Amino acid sequence: MIQITPKVKEEIIKVTDFLANRFSNKNVTDLEAICADESIIVLIDDYHKYFDGMLIWDGRKFNIHLNSAKGNWTDTTRGRFTLSHELGHFFLEAHQHALINGEVKPHPSSISLFHHEKMEVEADYFASCLLMPRDRLRKFTGGRKFSLDIIKEMSKFFNVSLTAALIRFAEVGTHGIMVIFCENNRVKWYCKSPDFPILSHRFKVGEAPPPTSVLGESFLKSDSQYTSIQNIYLEDWFFDRKGAPSWSLHEQCFYSDLYGYAISMVWFK
Ligand SMILES: [Zn+2]
Repeated sequence: MIQITPKVKEEIIKVTDFLANRFSNKNVTDLEAICADESIIVLIDDYHKYFDGMLIWDGRKFNIHLNSAKGNWTDTTRGRFTLSHELGHFFLEAHQHALINGEVKPHPSSISLFHHEKMEVEADYFASCLLMPRDRLRKFTGGRKFSLDIIKEMSKFFNVSLTAALIRFAEVGTHGIMVIFCENNRVKWYCKSPDFPILSHRFKVGEAPPPTSVLGESFLKSDSQYTSIQNIYLEDWFFDRKGAPSWSLHEQCFYSDLYGYAISMVWFK
């Protein structure tokens, strides 16, 4: 898992806070206004299955290409994430220099939950911060009980996908959660909020989720695609009660709109 350095993180937060404050329609960051202000031309066309978006330096100016064949339009959640990701390559100094100097080729960016390249991870983080600034998010979700409903409301409020909303909530949201992403009964990736209790969990990336968890059962029994909130045993997900709060543990699953994953959210309350 590639980590973003504190210095780059700071740069991303500074730039995205500035942009979101300056260019927003109520809660929704106005990406087209940002492009217009920077004289970036956005070209939307059918590029078959090749990529989601691409930032290109033509020797004089930058253009962003969006692939409509994969649902990238300036007003769709997918297109908005892609466009924000490309703006990350434009605004992050090291990325823009590398493109102008030809140190990196113009690269087709694809929507993916985990990237293996530093620039892609940084551009995704830029997108997440630009679309959902921390303070705006916390103001919206603060003082409310956590459930998938909050993530759904965030998705509408910020015009982002459920998955993007969830990942951002786990990072800076107002309730500690653990999120597990599964594909074909294998854990692909997981994340925890900084304030989620430190507990050793019963799963490894690449292996099946615990069979007694709601997520695990959804793969074992084809008729049990639970999407309601379930009260579960701590032992369903964790080895040891030590360090756990005395609150009960909850789990709720949903099926990804963007990446095709089964996703589980686990939290204490
Ligand atoms: Zn990219």
